Amino acid sequence: MSLAKLTEPTRDIDEEMKETSLGLSVVIPVYNEKDNLLPLHDQLISAIEPIGISYEIIYVNDGSTDGSEEVLQDIQAGSPVTAVLHLRRNFGQTAAMAAGFDRAGGEVVITMDADLQNDPADIPRLLEPLKDHDIVSGWRKDRKDAFWTRRLPSRIANWLISWITGVRLRDYGCTLKAYRREVVENLELWGDHHRFAPAVASWMGTRVSEIEVNHRPRVRGVSKYSTTRIFRVLMDLLVVKFFLSYSASPIRFFGGVGMISVAAGMVISLYLTILKLSTGADIGGRPLLVLGVLLIVVGLQLLLMGLLGELVARVYYGVMNKPIYVVRELPKAGNPPGAPEGRSTPQRPG
Ligand code: UDP
Ligand code: MG
Repeated sequence: MSLAKLTEPTRDIDEEMKETSLGLSVVIPVYNEKDNLLPLHDQLISAIEPIGISYEIIYVNDGSTDGSEEVLQDIQAGSPVTAVLHLRRNFGQTAAMAAGFDRAGGEVVITMDADLQNDPADIPRLLEPLKDHDIVSGWRKDRKDAFWTRRLPSRIANWLISWITGVRLRDYGCTLKAYRREVVENLELWGDHHRFAPAVASWMGTRVSEIEVNHRPRVRGVSKYSTTRIFRVLMDLLVVKFFLSYSASPIRFFGGVGMISVAAGMVISLYLTILKLSTGADIGGRPLLVLGVLLIVVGLQLLLMGLLGELVARVYYGVMNKPIYVVRELPKAGNPPGAPEGRSTPQRPG
């Protein structure tokens, strides 16, 4: 980002979208959706054209094997606003999204599914709350999926993710989301983490809003996920929580648990020692002794793991050239009253 851009007073996202060469990028991961692509493209064009901003549609073909590739090439040939990325194999929805983010040049980036379950007609409504938020997430209030295998697990997952990450959303799983470009530029997606994007982004102090969106049943093609996804989501949640809370200082997690463990082991050992010295009791066969020793050994291991973690974290932040802080740009003093609040731009050192 140029210095001129950094020192400019902050403007409304509307102005920003109209004045920058590219207002909106729509990123769509595609895996074996050949029959959905043409109607999807038509619906997208008729939803976005009336907004009157410059835009691009980026389809990321995630290694489709059903002929989606050819359909996408046809669409691209007839549409100058369309870009298609073909991944060499099926890397998964998160990776496909990340590929689209890397290519996206719009001031606002919107993600959605290719299976027509999300409704492109919702796109204009997503832009409105972006004026004072950094992420606008869709909420499929009236979700058209099976109850036991989809809606119920998703309810529990949403509650759990909200509770553990502190970013309260009713529908993490909805792919239809809008992001300001600074968020996307600094979002590191990993594994299966696309659904956690608002939580992952929260480290940079993002303001998230959730709005009701339309949801439709899948008419063509099949879902790419089974219920085993539930376990992956749980594991990912663990990783996300750890990264959010402790990636900058792993010793606080490991050190805390380690110290409690060592202290408990010491108390037990001390008690047994006093018992042995004062009454001469035989403590050699007592399970408590095993517990005491175990707690001390495990506790020391955890402490060492924390120190190793600190080393790894420094290497990580160093190698990735990752800032440990984010600056919010506010309008310059003297800006007309009522000027919109600033937007944030993470500052990369160097
Ligand atoms: N998808 C993808 N790569 C994958 C799996 C899915 O790009 O490995 C895309 C898929 O084409 C669709 C979106 O991700 O556009 C959501 O997939 P799906 O509709 O199967 O998920 P569900 O709605 O059943 O949760
Ligand atoms: Mg779907």
